[in-house]
Amino acid sequence: MASSGIDWQTDLRRRGYRLTPQRQLVLQAVDELEHATPEEVLTEVRRTAAGVNISTVYRTLDLLEELGLVSHAHLGHGAPTYHLASRDQHMHLVCRECGSVIETDVALAEPFVESLRRAHGFETDMKHFAIFGLCANCAAKDGTAKRDVSEHPQDPHDPEEKRA
Ligand SMILES: [Zn+2]
Ligand SMILES: [Zn+2]
Ligand SMILES: [Zn+2]
Repeated sequence: MASSGIDWQTDLRRRGYRLTPQRQLVLQAVDELEHATPEEVLTEVRRTAAGVNISTVYRTLDLLEELGLVSHAHLGHGAPTYHLASRDQHMHLVCRECGSVIETDVALAEPFVESLRRAHGFETDMKHFAIFGLCANCAAKDGTAKRDVSEHPQDPHDPEEKRA
């Protein structure tokens, strides 16, 4: 097979592995989609290989992960999301409100990771699970809602109180 210049192919050859065409399709789909659940990988792979089913995709992703070519992260309650292992040095911020996912450098978490290391000798993996919160947009909306509430003071002439 001609070298296409993609490093994982060279890498695999050097280690003496050969991927079947179907497995290569799965790996290519992860590469192209950048963030992909097994379902999304399946949809992509089926564009070229209609016979592939979801269990093949799951098995292949497991194998590719064992080979160190892909890794996964959990962005929510559903299926994990897969990346090429070469580009997984980021952590995920997931907005609870609108579901948007922000990728950010793990280095930003270093002060937090360092304090856990000092307190517990624990090496924290910030990449495996997403951090949940509100994105800037949703946080701004949330702030407005809170301010609106405080702008409506309680009615000082409460009829219940007069009767008492
Ligand atoms: Zn990611
Ligand atoms: Zn996991
Ligand atoms: Zn949001």
